[in-house]
Amino acid sequence: MRTVGVVGAGTIGRGLAQSLAMTGHEVVLVDIAEEALDDALAQIRRDLRFARMLGAQSAGAHEPVDTVLERLRPTTDHAELKAAEFVVENVVEDWDVKSEVYRILDSVCPEETVFAANTSCVPITRIGAQTRRPDRILGMHFMNPVPLKPVVEVIRAVHTSDATVETALRLLSGMGKEGIVVNDSPGFVSNRVMMLAVNEAAYLVYEGVADAASVDRIFTTCFGHRMGMLETADLIGLDTILRSIEVLHERFGDSKYRPCPLLRQLVDAGYLGRKSGRGFHTYEQ
Ligand code: NAD
Repeated sequence: MRTVGVVGAGTIGRGLAQSLAMTGHEVVLVDIAEEALDDALAQIRRDLRFARMLGAQSAGAHEPVDTVLERLRPTTDHAELKAAEFVVENVVEDWDVKSEVYRILDSVCPEETVFAANTSCVPITRIGAQTRRPDRILGMHFMNPVPLKPVVEVIRAVHTSDATVETALRLLSGMGKEGIVVNDSPGFVSNRVMMLAVNEAAYLVYEGVADAASVDRIFTTCFGHRMGMLETADLIGLDTILRSIEVLHERFGDSKYRPCPLLRQLVDAGYLGRKSGRGFHTYEQ
C-alpha cells in the first residue's frame, strides 16, 4: 500500500502520520485547521530528530528525517483523499463531526477505499451504517505515541468483511505493527477497562482520598505500570476521556460509567492534559 489518508492532525493523527511516513507510506494528512497541520509537522520534525539522537529502535527510525517529511502531504482539502487507498479517520470524538467526515469521505474516495475509524468509544457499526460501503469500514484503535506502540486494537463491526480486516492487518504489518482483532462493542476491550479505571482514579482525587501524584505513584511503584492512570489520561487528552466515558454511560445505560464531576470541571476550565500544559498534572510547554 503506497498512499494512506490520515484525517485529523491532532494528538493521535500526527503520530499516526509520522509512523506511516517512517515506514515508507505517502501520507495525505488532512485537517480543517491550518494551525493543527503546522503544529503537527513541527512536532513530527522534532520527534524524528529526537528519535535519531536517541538511536530509537521503532520501525523506520533509521530513515533520514527529510525523506520522511517529504512523504507527508498536509492539506485542508478533503478531496485530496481520493488518491488514498486506505484512510484512517482521527477527528474529534464527536458523533456529529465524525458522521459529517464520513459523508465527505464516501463521496470523494473510490468505492474500493477502506476507511478505518480511530476512535476511543464511538461504535464502528454505527459509523459503517452511515456510509455506502459498510463492508469496507472497521475500527483501528492506535495508542499514543503511535510510533512507539507495536500493537493496535482492530475492531470488526457487524458489516466488516474478512477482506477489509485482512487489508488492515497488512497495512499494520507494513508499519511494523501487529493487530489484535476484537468485535465491536462500546469502548472495545481497551477503553472499556481503561476509561472506567481513569474515571475511578479521578473520583479518588475528587473525594480527597489522595492527590493525583499519590494515585499515580501507587500504580507505577506497586503494580509496575509505566505510567499512572491520571498521567495516561493527561497524555490522551481529558476532553477525549470525558467524551469516551459519556459514550460508555449512554450506550450501556450503567451508572458505573457516570463521569466524575472533577473530570468535567477540568475540561470546562480548559485543562485538557499535556496538550494544554495542565490536566491532573502540570507540564512545561
Ligand atoms: P484532538 O482534539 O487532539 O485532534 C482532533 C483533530 O481533528 C483536530 O486537529 C481538529 O482540528 C481535527 N478536525 C476536526 N474536525 C475535522 C474535520 N471535519 N476534518 C478534518 N479534521 C478535523 O483529538 P485526538 O486526541 O487526536 O483524538 C482524535 C480521535 O482519535 C478521537 O476519536 C479519539 O477518541 C481517538 N483516539 C485518541 C487517542 C489519544 O490518545 N488521544 C488514542 C486513540 C484514539
